[in-house]
Amino acid sequence: MVKFLDIEKITDKYSREIHEAASRVIDSGWYLLGKETGMFEEKYARYIGTEHCVGVANGLDALRIILRAYIESGVMEEGDEIIVPANTFIASIIAITDNRLVPVLVEPDINTYQIDETKIESVVTSKTRGVMIVHLYGQCAYTEKIGEICRKYNLKLIEDNAQAAGCKYKGQKTGSFGDAAGHSFYPGKNLGALGDGGAVTTNDTSLADTVRSLANYGSSIKYVFDYQGYNSRLDEIQAAILSVKLSGLDQDNQRRKEVARYYLEHIDNPGIVLPVVKDPDSHVFHLFVIRCDRRDELLKHLQDKGVQALIHYPVPPHKQRAYKEWNQMTHPVTEKIHNEVLSLPISQVITDEEADIVIEAVNSFR
Ligand SMILES: *Cc1c(COP(=O)(O)O)cnc(C)c1O
Repeated sequence: MVKFLDIEKITDKYSREIHEAASRVIDSGWYLLGKETGMFEEKYARYIGTEHCVGVANGLDALRIILRAYIESGVMEEGDEIIVPANTFIASIIAITDNRLVPVLVEPDINTYQIDETKIESVVTSKTRGVMIVHLYGQCAYTEKIGEICRKYNLKLIEDNAQAAGCKYKGQKTGSFGDAAGHSFYPGKNLGALGDGGAVTTNDTSLADTVRSLANYGSSIKYVFDYQGYNSRLDEIQAAILSVKLSGLDQDNQRRKEVARYYLEHIDNPGIVLPVVKDPDSHVFHLFVIRCDRRDELLKHLQDKGVQALIHYPVPPHKQRAYKEWNQMTHPVTEKIHNEVLSLPISQVITDEEADIVIEAVNSFR
């Protein structure tokens, strides 16, 4: 069977260095807020191209603590609106509502699945304080027009970079375009820890300080508390492992891009819509998402052929019980996407033989 994601094999590639890194931390007797986290933060900031990186416990915390920091510093307040794509993973939305801010859902572009830049300006109100773009599936969502709208209306641009570690647009890494970005190191992400992890990157020194304090109970001096903060820390073992894996990220992403190109060249089933890649650098293929109007039959066909495919995501946030107040809303593009998408196996450890099996399985669907 071609597995959707072979995490064991992904870890295996770094096995010796990961064991060394973990042993070093175990033997050091220092497990939180130490030099491994500091070193990783420095490396990751340099990699992304921002002045600051603050390690936190996971990607959701990264986003929600960014917004909380804007509230604490008076930039935003309860009831303010944040524009966000309607087809994102629910964590982007939870980060907003958890802060009692109001998500304003905007439809994506049907070709790129990224927030539709032409639909942003018309939903800006006097309460809008930010735009959260999501580099969904690993493709850059930033456009110059989005940057312009944010400047014009004085909105904070926040990037959800959970799926796009290493993605570049015009030579610049995603996670460095906005005022702040949230990153996830969930094991299945392009840069995955062996457990949970996340980070905030920013060039805003005061924001970085507030985020660091909020993530440590609201304290920057021991036993002095400026905010009612969180306990959200990237631990030393994960930081040490992430430093190892960061050094291989570009190579890993290169392999993902190669597999994607191979799929794009060889999948020729007229019933399948392939992903649209604007420029090859600007997509790191966290997911390779195709569309088919008989998606559930296709899924079954792939299963029969020994190919494990998954749906990202079956139900959009506004149709979830968690947001039942939105259940009557319609976002037709988003709903169409959720009804038709299917993610094919893709990762840095997929072999050419496995890719051929996937291609044959997709092309033989009638
Ligand atoms: C994974 C993910 C998150 C959340 O990251 P966690 O580390 O799982 O908390 C947020 N947004 C998007 C788009 C994601 O894919």
